Amino acid sequence: MRVAATVICLFLFATVRAQVETTPAPVENPIAEKYGQTITAEKLSKQLHIIAGPGMEGRETTTAGQERAAAYIAGQFAAAGLKPGANGQWQQYYPLYSDSLVNSSITVRNNTFLYGQDFLSDLRAGENQDINISQIIYADQGIVTGEYNDYHNLDVRGQVVMIREMVKRGAYRDKGNLDERVAAAKARGAVAILVISPSAGRYRSLNQQKIRMTGLYAQKDTTAHPNVYFITPTLAAAIIGVDSNDRLLEEIDKGLKVPSLIKTSVRIVFDKAATIFQPSNVLAYLEGTDKKEELVFVTAHYDHLGKQGDEIFYGADDDGSGTCAVLEIAAAFARAKQAGHGPRRSMVFMTVSGEEKGLLGSQYYTEHPIYPLQQTVTDLNIDMIGRIDPAHEKDTNYLYIIGDNKLSSALRPINERANNTYTHLKLDYKYNDPNDPEGFYYRSDHYMFAQHRIPIIFYFNGTHADYHAPTDTVDKINYDLLAKRAQLVFYTAWDIANREHRLVVDRHER
Ligand SMILES: [Zn+2]
Repeated sequence: MRVAATVICLFLFATVRAQVETTPAPVENPIAEKYGQTITAEKLSKQLHIIAGPGMEGRETTTAGQERAAAYIAGQFAAAGLKPGANGQWQQYYPLYSDSLVNSSITVRNNTFLYGQDFLSDLRAGENQDINISQIIYADQGIVTGEYNDYHNLDVRGQVVMIREMVKRGAYRDKGNLDERVAAAKARGAVAILVISPSAGRYRSLNQQKIRMTGLYAQKDTTAHPNVYFITPTLAAAIIGVDSNDRLLEEIDKGLKVPSLIKTSVRIVFDKAATIFQPSNVLAYLEGTDKKEELVFVTAHYDHLGKQGDEIFYGADDDGSGTCAVLEIAAAFARAKQAGHGPRRSMVFMTVSGEEKGLLGSQYYTEHPIYPLQQTVTDLNIDMIGRIDPAHEKDTNYLYIIGDNKLSSALRPINERANNTYTHLKLDYKYNDPNDPEGFYYRSDHYMFAQHRIPIIFYFNGTHADYHAPTDTVDKINYDLLAKRAQLVFYTAWDIANREHRLVVDRHER
């Protein structure tokens, strides 16, 4: 389970359809039950002590611990008799990037100004450049509207443009969107944009290490664009050639005349180094029989937060619990197949990485699917099913079900029937409410499948005091409950894989 995105969209005006509550009657299937019962607390415990043990070092994406976990998972799939699920390989590798600053400075005449002190630039968006110029274009606010144009009579092609971050009071204040103003300078062919920023003085108090390294990201931006540098008024004053003045902008407001063409001598250096990583999703395949072209996915993320210093974030519940559940569900299906009870539809058991970095592994899979998404019937995603949240301390026999009714009317009855027949958990739909502020529906890997209108269920125990803490450890897992919850996923998957009709996709709930 990833942390909440900073912005959670609330689609407040969508209608919520009234749902008719029905309780599907139990339908026993002795064969399914025989194999479901092979998913035991003992096996899950044994797996989890390895997956969430110190040897895996918290499984952070792109670390040795993550690679070790991937190799272990692949080995377990192989031992259970499954086939490699990624075009003959166990792992689907995907690129992630991270940039670090090598050197960046702005030198005005013989005066050198420093990155992180006198200016800042977006490390991820920036491109390496080293430019020497004898003039820059001052475009004041950089505003372009139908009736007003700061670039009137200015040709900025191949030039460095300087604008003010803040818009003057009064007229055109509503045209002050900085992104639009920067875009206007880019569109006119500037090679670099200097933005005079009144708040740039606080750069010195930023974590200097952090502003010299990006986080992991998935997409290289291939559109060429000029770098944007946010500079202090002092640096701006040096460029303009007036006395160093931290109140430059006020001075300009009061009438300090700045020519649009400034003769000066400026060298801008921006040099960063890119690192490419190759983390992976691990996929196992179990071929179906008469409906083998259709796929049933069972997923969990095997990555977690890694280490901070020497402290390991074990991620036993998040999502060691789901990873072990996928391993044991896969093994149970493989056992059934070996005894002549293989599923009609094919099964794909996928453990992804990159989840804690922003669902990057599942995003990559759904953008580069190994099996046609049109033939992918469902994704049953398991993320944190080994613990009890504070709301259920008195009545622990529960599981949150999220997303099951968003795209298919067939899925909830199947899951409820499996539960009523075999596992008898109290299914809690609290977090399925689209207005729930936690927004859990958007926060794990199933969401990437749902984006492609593939019906999903997200199985979840809720958060707890050890969520994303080094104390999320194997000793705190309730293994009997973990086994029962994993069995529910197994029975639901069994039904979906073997039923005559593919799940309908007939709903559009958010
Ligand atoms: Zn998490």
